Amino acid sequence: MGTDLNEKETLLGRAKRKVITQIMMLKLIEIAEENGDFDRKKSYVDSYYCQQELVIADGRLFGKYCRNRFCTLCCSIRKAEIINKYYPVMKKWEDPFFLTLTVKSCNAHNLPRYIKKFTQVFQRKLEKGLVA
Ligand SMILES: [Zn+2]
Repeated sequence: MGTDLNEKETLLGRAKRKVITQIMMLKLIEIAEENGDFDRKKSYVDSYYCQQELVIADGRLFGKYCRNRFCTLCCSIRKAEIINKYYPVMKKWEDPFFLTLTVKSCNAHNLPRYIKKFTQVFQRKLEKGLVA
């Protein structure tokens, strides 16, 4: 798809994310080297060079993405894809609200029980009007 060269704000945001990623990756590469974790170092190096070489075609900018979860360039694309995927469903909701629920982490074996209990507690709170 590429980035439209006429969209200045988009290009500025992209440049900012690139700088942030490169600064983060230099530090993380250093840490990976200290720990002797060369697989991780390779991923950080890939992210450092994410979108390093760009090609312009038909007024759009193209480059190779690293697709690593710690790359701010790739995360912004992933976020946009998720928003585009869920927004058509979410815009149909009558009274949407955002809520973050946190609990102490559990192991995979106990997860189904945790989710069931969590859902029950949340349902009770909704019924009592304690949420929303
Ligand atoms: Zn990337």
